[in-house]
Amino acid sequence: MTHDTLSMTINGQAADSQNRLEVVNPASGAVFASVPDAGAPELETAISAARAAFPGWRDTPWAERAAIVNRIGETIAANAAELATMLTREQGKPAEQAQFEVMAAAQWCQATATLTLPDREIKAGPGRRQVTRYVPIGVVAGISPWNFPVVLSMWKIAPALLAGNTLVLKPSPFTPMTVLRIGELIRDFVPAGVINVITGGDALGPMMTEHPGFDKVSFTGSTATGRRVMESAAPTLKRLTLELGGNDAAIVMPDVNVRETAEKLFWSAFTNSGQVCVATKRAYVHNDIYEVFRDEMAKLAKAVPMGDGSQQGVALGPIQNKPQYDRVKGLLADCEANSYGLLQGEAPQDGGFFVPVTLVDNPPEESRIVREEQFGPILPLVRFTDVEDAISRANNTDMGLAGTVWSADTATAMRIAERLETGNVWINEGLALSPFAAFGGRKQSGIGVENGVEGLMAYTEAKTYLMAN
Ligand code: NAD
Repeated sequence: MTHDTLSMTINGQAADSQNRLEVVNPASGAVFASVPDAGAPELETAISAARAAFPGWRDTPWAERAAIVNRIGETIAANAAELATMLTREQGKPAEQAQFEVMAAAQWCQATATLTLPDREIKAGPGRRQVTRYVPIGVVAGISPWNFPVVLSMWKIAPALLAGNTLVLKPSPFTPMTVLRIGELIRDFVPAGVINVITGGDALGPMMTEHPGFDKVSFTGSTATGRRVMESAAPTLKRLTLELGGNDAAIVMPDVNVRETAEKLFWSAFTNSGQVCVATKRAYVHNDIYEVFRDEMAKLAKAVPMGDGSQQGVALGPIQNKPQYDRVKGLLADCEANSYGLLQGEAPQDGGFFVPVTLVDNPPEESRIVREEQFGPILPLVRFTDVEDAISRANNTDMGLAGTVWSADTATAMRIAERLETGNVWINEGLALSPFAAFGGRKQSGIGVENGVEGLMAYTEAKTYLMAN
């Protein structure tokens, strides 16, 4: 089966482009489909459609906009099986996790649709009134990455629309298909021009971020690209939400139940083959339990099956694309060149972009694998004895996305969590997220937040009415 017929959605209609972008199945390394490769003309049409649709959508009552956002969620849920199969094929993740992502996208739309941003009456002196109202910004450029293409696109679509903005969304060129398909499924009930979905190669993102037709950019991707987005948004002072990279630390205290914690931490690090922005990317493990903890993790590394995500029983898939595969292999080669101890699982030998689950046994703090975001299935385990030292090492980075703390004593865990310079912190769990909780990164992991009322507010501007009466 090929999917060469998927179309972009511009002004509520199917749109194609002269050029094509090839899509590779990361489990085989082979091209299996192609999608439109939009350039300047298609982008201009999409922006014009979004601008034309803005006044009508802005003036549509909140409840009607909420009903449409909710219906997007229902539509995704109703088509989950088809969407999840497509997602596994283009992204590589196991079928069950693809289904989970698609259903999470549906749930996010439906949960976001319940949010409201009431006017705020501000206390004023006698004979005066002051009211702050949250008004939409205008036309939003949404740019999403390849690790969770569906749910992270919905994190933009749902709040942008609910708040009264219109949008042009561009998924990653590595994972364009499932989001294109969602555009097709919703185009008959979302008013024309309100959502436009376009796909294209490397040139399209920069074209969007510098285009004066956008009022805001909501970007999820790497920190390096985030800097470029901020630069190109500067001339027109576009509003920005940047969700960027992380190098999340876990701190494991000696009082934990080793087997239980090792299993939870394993999945916090290796879900989606480590390609999660808030995955545990370095684990500081107390010296008293270091060996037993490492050995428990190593057992899992050997036991968890890696392979083509469309096959039954597979729990971990490939790296999503060749450039990232080369980067992760480069980090592995650096570990080997420095003779760090490696504990590894099995991975398919030929075909796709597979890297075996790898634990790096106590590499130095200054090693590349500890200092850099790996975004793949390699986790350094690092010993510590003094928790103050572990906290300071966890914070010794330009990143500040998330972290985890593991201890049987939740008061101690909370005290450690309070000291981590991150936007999110989990205690005795990892990765769990809520559509109602603000999510964002500190330092160079981002600007602003997504989700919850705070995330919704990021798609508005505060407009204050000051009245004498
Ligand atoms: P990336 O920065 O390479 O690409 C992200 C998106 O930006 C893609 O759609 C890409 O086409 C587009 N793009 C590329 N160059 C651009 C430019 N100059 N201007 C505008 N757009 C451009 O990131 P990626 O490799 O797709 O994703 C992996 C990274 O994303 C990791 O660092 C990960 O931690 C991060 N991430 C962060 C979050 C979060 O919420 N904080 C979530 C997921 C992923």
